Amino acid sequence: MLPDHVANKIAAGEVVGRPSSVLKELVENSLDAGARQIDVEVSAGGRKLVSVSDDGSGMGRDDALLCIERHATSKIRDLPDLDTIETLGFRGEALAAIASVSQFVLVTRLREAPAGAEVVVTGGKIQEVRETGCPPGTSTQVRNLFFNVPARRKFLRSEQTEFSHLRQMFVELALSHPEVGMRLIADGRELYRLAGNSSREDRLRDLYGGDFVLALKAVRMDDGLTFIEGFVGLPEISRTDRSEQHVFINGRAASAPVIAHAVGEACRSMFQKGRHPAVFLYLKMDPASVDVNVHPAKKEVRLRQPAQLRDLLIAAIRKSLSLDISAPSADRWPWNKQAEAPPRARDTTELFPRPASSSPPPVAYPRAPMAPPVAPAPSQTVVKAGTESPLQTAVSGRSPWTWRRYLGKIGGRYVVLETDEGLVLLDPQAAHERVLYERLMGEVLNRNVSSQALLTPETVELPPRDAIRVRNNLEALKRMGFGVSEFGQDTFLVDALPAYLSGARPAALLTGVAEGLEQGGSRAGVERWVEEAIAQAACRAAVKNRASLSEPEIEQLVDDLAHSDMPYTCPHGRPTVIFFGLDELNRKFGRI
Ligand code: ADP
Ligand code: MG
Repeated sequence: MLPDHVANKIAAGEVVGRPSSVLKELVENSLDAGARQIDVEVSAGGRKLVSVSDDGSGMGRDDALLCIERHATSKIRDLPDLDTIETLGFRGEALAAIASVSQFVLVTRLREAPAGAEVVVTGGKIQEVRETGCPPGTSTQVRNLFFNVPARRKFLRSEQTEFSHLRQMFVELALSHPEVGMRLIADGRELYRLAGNSSREDRLRDLYGGDFVLALKAVRMDDGLTFIEGFVGLPEISRTDRSEQHVFINGRAASAPVIAHAVGEACRSMFQKGRHPAVFLYLKMDPASVDVNVHPAKKEVRLRQPAQLRDLLIAAIRKSLSLDISAPSADRWPWNKQAEAPPRARDTTELFPRPASSSPPPVAYPRAPMAPPVAPAPSQTVVKAGTESPLQTAVSGRSPWTWRRYLGKIGGRYVVLETDEGLVLLDPQAAHERVLYERLMGEVLNRNVSSQALLTPETVELPPRDAIRVRNNLEALKRMGFGVSEFGQDTFLVDALPAYLSGARPAALLTGVAEGLEQGGSRAGVERWVEEAIAQAACRAAVKNRASLSEPEIEQLVDDLAHSDMPYTCPHGRPTVIFFGLDELNRKFGRI
């Protein structure tokens, strides 16, 4: 049998890795105690001090002594309780572990008690217990973490590094419970003062600033068992790592491989390679369907039905990155899918380039009478004033932005648009790629891809491994517009290609598909390959001659973009539009 002080130190190795894990355990205890206000103070990156004070339930003197014993918890009694866990803690290990490797002071008072109790523990040994005057609630100070475990103390990083972990942890905890007021003081300086009773959006604004929140889209979806709410960031606030991906399950910051995977899957074709979206997702589900007791620090959870959750997450995120959802904070685009624009024929002919002789573009929305054309301004760059775009009348409704007009082009490439909220720069090529991409994807999904017969059918012989994959996916290939059939051992006859791939070499295509299948695994592989093939086709087909676009063509393009599912980026993740809000302009000009 290991003596208690040894067992505690061993446990400390799992539960308390660094000052930020002390912060986590203490704040989670405060949250479990029903605190409305939590004040955190740290110094020297938490090496000297991590202190947490709350106005929660507090403890009586006996409990104050008991709570630092190993396996002392007020949160569960028996094994079945684990299935209905709604508190953040339940293992009864944290305080015992922390107190065994630090100089630890606990001051606590029950609301109705006349006085509180103070317990002083050093390296796991109780030094002092006394009555003390203090406000109701609990205040815990942890000094000189690992002072008695030199080997561990050596593993701590610089003050700065430890502090950045502390700050990240604080932000995570603050995000998880916006209803609780929180303060962070570091080395005597107040870094955060977060109001209580906040909405999630308010909390995000307090932590990240208003501009950041403007680039968030609301997420909301449920399947009757799992409820997802939260936000996903547009590409403009994407990051090179996943550090702004925050997922909370039943109020607890949680990670699981399936969740990270779903976020990545949902954002494919929207973010550039190597960029990751910011997400803040709040999941609610039956506690019995998620096992939080996988990891001593409860970082990772295990889900009972990962596949369902994955599909739901993908659907939820995709939906919110499309324009279908109306997110009051983030609905900042001049176009709005729900606008009262009359339904429009979607099957217009190829838009660009249009032969000069062709009739004006078929548009179904009512064209407002055009103002008389204004004489071109002397410098041809930006100015084209006075003409109200018909889009203004077409796009109206709940969007806080109203379309104003097309201003002109700069650099012979970018289109300048004005809205009532500021300025929009549009890259017509990227925009056109997005529009074409979605049209082609639509054809594939609706299974009416136009095929183009080859003048001379070609036979393609594949290595056996690739041949098996192609043979197993003949149906999928036909759906994608390939005319392909077996033609003997490992050989295939290709007599038609999808129109969007016309001109490509059949052999290279089939090898490409086989490779895609290998990487993605059967079904997902085909889909992913189709997406990429179509994205490339869209790139090839998209308008290259940007200078020649006429104003009606640009308006048509903007309108088509507005009606696409993911208008903000081209299929390879480059932005289609960049927005400069009046607020931002005012700030830059020192007007606020
Ligand atoms: P756990 O949180 O897993 O129960 P801990 O070691 O973190 O284990 O805490 C032990 C017990 O001490 C808790 O179950 C709770 O009853 C009590 N406790 C800890 N911190 C507080 C606090 N801030 N306010 C009230 N009670 C607390
Ligand atoms: Mg705890």
